[in-house]
Amino acid sequence: TPMTSPQPRPNVAEIPPYVAGKPPTVRPGMTSYKLSSNENPYPPLPGVVEAVQAGVAAMNRYPDMGAVALYEALAQRFGVPVEHLSVATGSVGLIYQLVQAFCDPGDEVVFAWRSFEAYPIAVTAAAATAVKVPVTADGRHDLDAMAAAITERTKVVLVCTPNNPTGPAVTQTELDGFLAKVPPHVLVVVDEAYVEFVRTSDPVDGLATYRGRDNVVLTRTFSKAYGLAGFRVGYAVAPAPIAAALRAVSLPFGVSTVAQAAAIASLERQDELLERVEALVAERARVVEGLRAAGWDVPEAQGNFVWFELGDRTLDFAAAADEAGIVVRPFAGEGARVSIGETEANDRLIAVAAAFAR
Ligand code: PMP
Repeated sequence: TPMTSPQPRPNVAEIPPYVAGKPPTVRPGMTSYKLSSNENPYPPLPGVVEAVQAGVAAMNRYPDMGAVALYEALAQRFGVPVEHLSVATGSVGLIYQLVQAFCDPGDEVVFAWRSFEAYPIAVTAAAATAVKVPVTADGRHDLDAMAAAITERTKVVLVCTPNNPTGPAVTQTELDGFLAKVPPHVLVVVDEAYVEFVRTSDPVDGLATYRGRDNVVLTRTFSKAYGLAGFRVGYAVAPAPIAAALRAVSLPFGVSTVAQAAAIASLERQDELLERVEALVAERARVVEGLRAAGWDVPEAQGNFVWFELGDRTLDFAAAADEAGIVVRPFAGEGARVSIGETEANDRLIAVAAAFAR
């Protein structure tokens, strides 16, 4: 036996880092806003906080591992059987579980790039192979190129709509055309983390798309529209065998008692929460209009964020924003993603961008 210390699998050293959005910079006499993690600026509703507080008293116990009440609430809300659902530790948990359940080492996972930074992390952690297909110049998925990238070793395709961080949404027409080309052995994951924010003429109807197909799964989250990012609750809607596979590889007790309570209470108050989404969508329109008026060529923004393609000027832009009391998410050498936040924060973004463009 070799005399060495325990070694992780070689691919572990290759896992790219997840760069979490920075917290706001503290400056005396100035409020600073965090626009770096696509969070919802509204705190949980009072009724949600109460439901959570009631759950805290039972935190000496493990949560309901089956999350029965949450599954039932989701099944009722979306009109799907509970067997078609899988609840997880954030939708990022589902991405890990999908790769783990469907990929052997060396199997390929096709996704657009740049897209959600957790994709290559989950794929590399499973010793699978990431196949990155560049987005178009306007930040859209190139679904023709993604279909062409599928091989016999492809097990999963991740379609992120709207795409984080560039912003555009895939249309139903585009998705249907893509699905028609995907061979039956390939699982298509439609990551709908920002689905509630989409306002296009031909939006993807994920629920209609997964019905009647045995290779489509939707992933969604309570982190964005429902404003529960800190609780870590996501869910997948999938054909029964796929949902069962996801549940099988899930972390036992991965959704805490308080997280289950928060998610259920939020589903009960979804009208009020979706009104907040409407307000954020209106703010997004105002921001995009302000930026375009200032000469910025921002791509279609269908999530709760806008994308600035900045190349070498990315870190300068992030520094200028920081000076103005807003923290953005720079991707060095590429661009910056900025969440839609409080009205004051959005005003500052428009002002900073206008000054920076000149
Ligand atoms: N998918 C996309 C496209 C995202 O942007 C995010 C969060 N940034 C997630 C999934 C994961 O969100 P969560 O784990 O909080 O559900």
